[in-house]
Amino acid sequence: MKTLKSKLLLALVVMWIGLLVLAAWSALNTRQNMINEREAGLKRVVETAEGTYTFDTVYPALGSDPHVLLAQAVGAALGEKGCITVDRHQRTNIPGVYAAGDVVIGLDQISHAMGEGGVAATTIRNDLAARTPLLR
Ligand SMILES: Cc1cc2nc3c(=O)[nH]c(=O)nc-3n(C[C@H](O)[C@H](O)[C@H](O)COP(=O)(O)OP(=O)(O)OC[C@H]3O[C@@H](n4cnc5c(N)ncnc54)[C@H](O)[C@@H]3O)c2cc1C
Repeated sequence: MKTLKSKLLLALVVMWIGLLVLAAWSALNTRQNMINEREAGLKRVVETAEGTYTFDTVYPALGSDPHVLLAQAVGAALGEKGCITVDRHQRTNIPGVYAAGDVVIGLDQISHAMGEGGVAATTIRNDLAARTPLLR
């Protein structure tokens, strides 16, 4: 029984060592390939409708179209690239209408949208409190 356990343990250790060696070899191989590509001056060739372009590196990016129909329906002003125009506190030109996130010009990222949402919420609270004192 004891011998069987020892053999199993040994097999596991050998497997682990094998996996570590494989991972290290793979990482070294990838790094060597990248060095070879750089040294050979390899470029990325991209075919487009307007011709063939060559780049050192290519970073894929997606655009987005802001959906601002609701804001437009109440008369909110749009600015650059069709985004809703807001002041530093996320107010639009229509009193009581606030905008935040991708519909507003700026960095299109989750953390940014959440931050702007927080600013809008605080502004809404403060604007309401300015009209009617609110309890804290
Ligand atoms: C492919 C892709 C990958 C991304 N990857 C990342 C990433 O890795 N990290 C990161 O930080 N950001 C990423 N982003 C950006 C991120 O998703 C946005 O910045 C973020 O979701 C903006 O939040 P939002 O609330 O302003 O808009 P949204 O998340 O787009 O929410 C708007 C909501 O309003 C709804 N809506 C629109 N019009 C109406 C209407 N008339 N009536 C009712 N509802 C309506 C929409 O259906 C949607 O649910 C990615 C975006 C895309 C497209």
